[in-house]
Amino acid sequence: MSRLIAISNRVQAAQAGESSNRGGLAVALSAALRESNGFWFGWSGEQTDEFTGHISFKREDGVATATIDLEAQDIDEYYNGFANRTLWPLFHYRLDLTEIARDFAGGYARVNARFADTIAPLIELDDLIWVHDYHLMPLGKGLRDRGFENRLGFFLHTPWPPASLMVSLPNHRELVASLLSYDVIGFHTDEWRASFIDYIVTHLDARIDGDYAHYEGRMTRLLICPIGLDTTEFTSALDSPAARQAQQRMITSAAGRQVIVGVDRLDYSKGLQERFLAYEQLLDTRPDLREKVFMLQIAPPSRGDVASYQQIRADLNSLSGQINGEFASIDWVPVRYVNKGYGRDELFGIYRASRVGLVTPLRDGMNLVAKEYVAAQDPADPGVLVLSRFAGASVQLDAAVIVNPHSSEDMADGIARALTMPLEERKERHAAMLKSVVQQDVRWWSARFISALGEPRPEEDRPKLSLASSKS
Ligand code: UDP
Repeated sequence: MSRLIAISNRVQAAQAGESSNRGGLAVALSAALRESNGFWFGWSGEQTDEFTGHISFKREDGVATATIDLEAQDIDEYYNGFANRTLWPLFHYRLDLTEIARDFAGGYARVNARFADTIAPLIELDDLIWVHDYHLMPLGKGLRDRGFENRLGFFLHTPWPPASLMVSLPNHRELVASLLSYDVIGFHTDEWRASFIDYIVTHLDARIDGDYAHYEGRMTRLLICPIGLDTTEFTSALDSPAARQAQQRMITSAAGRQVIVGVDRLDYSKGLQERFLAYEQLLDTRPDLREKVFMLQIAPPSRGDVASYQQIRADLNSLSGQINGEFASIDWVPVRYVNKGYGRDELFGIYRASRVGLVTPLRDGMNLVAKEYVAAQDPADPGVLVLSRFAGASVQLDAAVIVNPHSSEDMADGIARALTMPLEERKERHAAMLKSVVQQDVRWWSARFISALGEPRPEEDRPKLSLASSKS
């Protein structure tokens, strides 16, 4: 069995007893790394005065990690700059928020080269290398340029934007071409893969043959591989005392009212302002629902130093005040807006106590909250997921009430439908979605990607075949 090396911006090996607050990614990768005796490489999250390339090795809960510190300029230009202020908005179709700066692009290239230089001595001939996300797109080419012919894979955790937006990056051709140094590129959905294919055919003259892109003598498999939940984690989270207490607290404080819940990082991709406006529309047009429901929005802050994030915070403060000011009564507050994060055990209890799960991003690579909401429901009396058609999750969770997050009216109708849906229909929709959440979980996802990564290169097969046939 080949060794697996995972490379991502940050390293988050799952540790014993801590998995409930770590991402499913950490859980899935940790299992695969442990089994193959591999390791996880990335930035420690720490700043150093001057980059030295010194690697800190650790082994936690059987998973080996190798991390490096970055200097202030790297963090500023590569992470806060090109990753968070250029690629994140661009890949979520927000050209209006995309900042183009040469310093950012320079820092991104420099840090990717630093990753390649530092990891190079650790790579052995048969290692499978799996690079994660938009922070590290050029790393595969960096390794090829340093002479590595290992199987290299890349997984994109975000959407891939349409070619017409991608071209707004000054170095778009070079950046996208660098991706074709990988043997496998994974996308959550066919939509993101189709946008990628459109770009490489139009702007790079790549040739597509089935699942493969052919470019400058290399073949890259373009794989659809939607990420899922850690099923073991959610089963134990549901049984945890924290989940039960949170569920009970919600039921008591709801006092017979139906709960509509949203759980999102405070990010412009999540469509939070639009969601608040849709809820206002619902209360406005359906007076019969007033006092019978309330919306709980949990929105832990992220990237608080970026101006666009400060704007969302200010907008939501003002919108929640406006809705409560307009509709509240002495014993009813229509919006509870909570600006802090919760542990996943508690979240599962909150999801389970809620009649409607409102997941309405304007654009989202996958959206795990949608899957968590489904997983947390009581199959005998499940709540209803109201889901944006622009979340990657809507492909697998098509039995949700699918809404257009750009239309307050459509979202308000969707919420009203969810609140009044008969039990039989709720059960049917929930059963269909739970099946996909359980079957296509995070272990299925990592096994699918690693199996594609481990397949021999199609080009490599050809000489062997012709050799065999010439002998016979
Ligand atoms: N989450 C959490 N506590 C919170 C809010 C969110 O643990 O207070 C978790 C949530 O359970 C989910 C993840 O953060 O697993 C968010 O993932 P998602 O794919 O929905 O969105 P992202 O934040 O990655 O864009």
